[in-house]
Order: sequence, then structure tokens, then C-alpha cells
Amino acid sequence: MRTLNLCILRGGPGRPAAYQTYRITVDEHLNILDAVQKVWATQDPTLLFRHACHHASCGLCGVRVNGRERLMCLTPIAEFPDGATVTLEPLRNFPWVGDLVVDVKPLMERMAAIQAPYVRRDELTAGGEEGTRFEDCIECGLCMSACPVVGSDSAYLGPSPLAMIKRLLEEPRGRDIRSLCLLAGDAHGAWRCHSVMECVEVCPSHVDPSQAIGWLRRYLILRGRRQPAEAQRR
Ligand code: SF4
Repeated sequence: MRTLNLCILRGGPGRPAAYQTYRITVDEHLNILDAVQKVWATQDPTLLFRHACHHASCGLCGVRVNGRERLMCLTPIAEFPDGATVTLEPLRNFPWVGDLVVDVKPLMERMAAIQAPYVRRDELTAGGEEGTRFEDCIECGLCMSACPVVGSDSAYLGPSPLAMIKRLLEEPRGRDIRSLCLLAGDAHGAWRCHSVMECVEVCPSHVDPSQAIGWLRRYLILRGRRQPAEAQRR
């Protein structure tokens, strides 16, 4: 067993922001998500956090752990020494709902603009209930929180939407390539990336958005699409 001090940023719209510390003892073979759930179940039922699958598939439990974007379900308790203080904060660059919960609507709206498919229609079974995964992104938003360009340009498409466009261009299957190129080649698209690589560091699903953005730039150049003047000035 291991005892940790979970220092959690509480608050939200209409509520003052303040850190609250919970001392909790948990099995060292578990993850930070289990510790937060235990706090909620035994100490504070008002604590807001999101989770579903517990195995890095749903992408819901993303927070900042000691300042770094991580999924709580993939953050082992054993990583921290007995008695350590672990700071948990909500993701950046999203509207704050409360405590550890943010509204990921800005990411979902970008994915909708791209018309990113979760499952291709032609991959559905006759019953329409099963499909094949098209790409690795779990839409957790960690890269959007870690990216300093997303933080400074609210119109920037961001790492995961650009990685999705790359995947669609790679395997278009009848998609409208021109509209995807317009999105990727916009001043707030692939050219806006500053190659800080934070997205690569934090991605729990090995998507490598930075590599995808480099791929997109080459793709655009090979098709005669130059960097917009607005992007060059930045
Ligand atoms: S690219 Fe990686 S970090 Fe970004 S939303 Fe997708 S899975 Fe999460």
C-alpha cells in the first residue's frame, strides 16, 4: 500500500479556484484514477472527474499530473514514493467545467468539421453494430492541452485534428481531398505548428501528430499549395 497526498485544483465557473489536498492510501499496483475514485467514494462525493474504460481506450480521464498531461488510468501509483504529493489539474485550452473536468467540445467541433469517421460505413457489418478502428487517436485532448500554439491561437486546428486529416488523405476512400487540403493548408492549419513536439510527448496512443503535420506539409507542397502569407509572418 502507498499513501499519497492528492492536491487537486477545485473550482470552476462561478466557484473560486483553490487547491484541496486529500490524503489517501491505495494499493501501489493501481493507478491515479483508482486513487481519485477512492477519494470520491470515501472522502468527497462532490469531486468532479471523468472516466469510463480504465484502460486507455475512452480518453476521458485526461488531466495534468504534476504539470504534465496524462491519462489518470495510465499513471501508476507506484511511480510516486510513499508520502508524495501529487498535483492534479484539469487540461488546459478547453473551457473549464469544474474540478478535473473540461468541455472537450472545441476538439469535437474540429473533428466534426473534418468529418472524421469513427468507423467507415463500408466497414460496418450487415447489422451495423461492429466496425474496424480507422486510426489510433482516442480524442483524449492531451495534445490540445499540451500544445502552446493551441494556447495562443484559438483558431489553430491543433495536433489531433491535423493527424486525422493526414490519416484521411492517406486513405481517402472517396473523401473530398480538396476540402481536406483547404483545411490543412489554411493559415491555422499545418503551417501554424511550431514543432514544439509536446503533442508527441503526451500522446498515450502513439499517434505522433508532429510527424503527421510534417507529412501534411510535404503533401501540400507536392500539390503546389504554398504556405499562406499570414502563416509566414508568425
Ligand atoms: S493525438 Fe494522441 S494526445 Fe491527441 S487526442 Fe489523439 S490520442 Fe489524445
